[in-house]
Amino acid sequence: MTSWEERDHEFIMPTYTKQKLPIAIARGEGNSLYDTEGHQYLDLFTGLAVNTLGHSHPKIIATLKDQAEKFLHISNVYYNPPAIRLAEKLSKATNNGKVFFTNSGTEATEAFVKWLHKYEKEATSGQSGIVVLRQSFHGRTLGALKLTRQPHVYQDFPYSDIPVYEVEPENLEQLEAALENKPAALLMEPVLGSAGILPLSQFFMETAYQLCRENDVLFCLDEIQTGMGRTGELFAYQHYHIDPDAILFAKGIGGGLPLGGMIVADRFSGLFQTGDHGTTFAPSPMAAALGNTVLEVLTDDGVMQTAAEQATYLWDALEHLQQTSAVVEEVRGKGLMLGVVLNGDADAIREVRETMLQKGFLIDVTQKTIIRLLPPLTITREDIDTFVQAFAETIEHVVQ
Ligand SMILES: *Cc1c(COP(=O)(O)O)cnc(C)c1O
Repeated sequence: MTSWEERDHEFIMPTYTKQKLPIAIARGEGNSLYDTEGHQYLDLFTGLAVNTLGHSHPKIIATLKDQAEKFLHISNVYYNPPAIRLAEKLSKATNNGKVFFTNSGTEATEAFVKWLHKYEKEATSGQSGIVVLRQSFHGRTLGALKLTRQPHVYQDFPYSDIPVYEVEPENLEQLEAALENKPAALLMEPVLGSAGILPLSQFFMETAYQLCRENDVLFCLDEIQTGMGRTGELFAYQHYHIDPDAILFAKGIGGGLPLGGMIVADRFSGLFQTGDHGTTFAPSPMAAALGNTVLEVLTDDGVMQTAAEQATYLWDALEHLQQTSAVVEEVRGKGLMLGVVLNGDADAIREVRETMLQKGFLIDVTQKTIIRLLPPLTITREDIDTFVQAFAETIEHVVQ
């Protein structure tokens, strides 16, 4: 193990070093990962909501083998059957819109911003900017377009900053005030993930939607973390009476391979025309083939259904823990996207994570003190029982 640690520090930039756990992964199987020393870990992190079906799912492996023998990459100058099939599935399962594929979440946001700019220019009389929520997370890239010096690529898009208006989650007064600036869109995560698993209430979501409709502002959702069945519906917005104009997706869609994108409601889907946007790799035929398989397993094989039952079971167990333990302050989230707020400081929470690792459980911490659980949708009752028991013992022992 130490040799992997040393070599990582020698050759890989330290942008993640302090967040790394001291294990090197050798393989995964079912809902577990195994390290190079053979220790087993129940994976309640799933590579940040990516490995929705756990590891080495037989249907994922079968699709991988099948597609690998056909082609890995083609290009957007040919028709790409796995991607067309996936786009059709996504469209029919959501707003019947059209899909633009990317390789990652942040690229989905970038595509959205460019698309919105065309919307501002071609479909509004001067509306501009995006309303977002305080503590939201939509990606990390800076915008390579500024450095691309081919006028036909950049001339239709702005150099300057897009106006951004920040409002507090659940604060409708602030939202109403922000809408007075005549923005073009509102973009929100239905459950703010890295902000500490903050679910937006049904009332806020539906009222924000109505306000957007009344003010002619596009209602757009970042479902990069909440999508792919994580909250109990394929996309979290489907719990509510709302019909988003754009939906960003990534993380779980590619079955473990990089894939993302946006689905835009049909009435706006003509805004992107030939040359307006593009990328060499996306949609990767391999990732798209896996995407089809993930969707089939989630819906046709009933995994989303059983995941909803397991979610209820896990919520009951954690809420029981909250009632019986002085250490658990709050359990929040939606479906299999959970935040457990413990009554302890950042050091204590780090120790909880490390102790759980030693006991064979992979969990995440976000906002320094909030335990984030993103288990695979294939989690079983036995998994939940062993996890909750170890977690209860650990927090009583570590946090006072
Ligand atoms: C992870 C995430 C992103 C960024 O996705 P990357 O693939 O890491 O670029 C954007 N929005 C949300 C809500 C996310 O969870």
